[in-house]
Amino acid sequence: MTKKLNLVLLAVCGALFSPLTVAQQGVVPGPIVVQGAMPVEAERFAQRLDNPREEQIGGWRFWRGTVDGYPVVVSETLKGMSNAAAATAIAATEFRPVAIINQGTAGGHDPALKVYDIVLGKYSVSLGAFKTPKKALGEGSDSRQWQPMDLLASKGSAGEDKNPHTIRQFPADAKLLAIAESVKGSYAQGKVVEGVIGSADVWNSELDRIRDFREKYHTSVEEMETASAAQIAAAFNIPFVGIRVLSNNITNQGKYDPQTGLACQDYVYQVVKAYIAENASR
Ligand code: SAH
Repeated sequence: MTKKLNLVLLAVCGALFSPLTVAQQGVVPGPIVVQGAMPVEAERFAQRLDNPREEQIGGWRFWRGTVDGYPVVVSETLKGMSNAAAATAIAATEFRPVAIINQGTAGGHDPALKVYDIVLGKYSVSLGAFKTPKKALGEGSDSRQWQPMDLLASKGSAGEDKNPHTIRQFPADAKLLAIAESVKGSYAQGKVVEGVIGSADVWNSELDRIRDFREKYHTSVEEMETASAAQIAAAFNIPFVGIRVLSNNITNQGKYDPQTGLACQDYVYQVVKAYIAENASR
């Protein structure tokens, strides 16, 4: 058989089987990318990689290695929406991942959730994109009157468009979410629930505002990266899920505990192992 025909056959098989099955046929598969914003949210996972190699691209650190023989890249995105977007775009073009998991700490919006509970994001929303009503000088400001602004709704003016005032939801990949669910039983430090992750370059400590977010957009937690990473992953058609541990919950006096970031990485390590086991065994 000619080399060209071989390649065509391989491509056809690649379309029929999962990415990891293709790996067994000799094509280098894309890695799973695991993102964490702060050192306490990324370094633990990086240390658990086999044969890790650290790489600096621009302002961001990546560690390439393997888990159970399958390639995994840990990405330290740094904090905030811009950093998360840039790190996701770099990961997408540099590594061509089969999946991206954004994980780390978050603050509770749901009083039923305690510090150390984990939220599997069925979708995420931006809590930083709004249009305010007009108010005259001296009329003040009330963020509860602000309308969500969907910056992806059209190419027209976001300020003048009539239709972008429903909040954009960035959904999790159904298969990744199911795998994240499947290892729930392994987690002893709290409960694991599906919920909504809200993201913005804002740390909210106003209980009325938090309640308003929860009532309108059903947020379980807030943090500063997931919706941004999800938006960019979607632009590259890369399956995505956000997984967040509560490190604080002002709605029920849950005190900030950065150690929760380690627990989240341990949970996500189990998710990654389950993903690899499930896809390799087909
Ligand atoms: N306590 C740290 C917080 C870091 S900034 C400090 O003062 O240095 C916030 C980071 O933690 C972001 O990466 C964000 O994703 C996450 N985070 C955790 N709880 C949060 C909350 N209640 N609101 C916003 N971000 C939160």
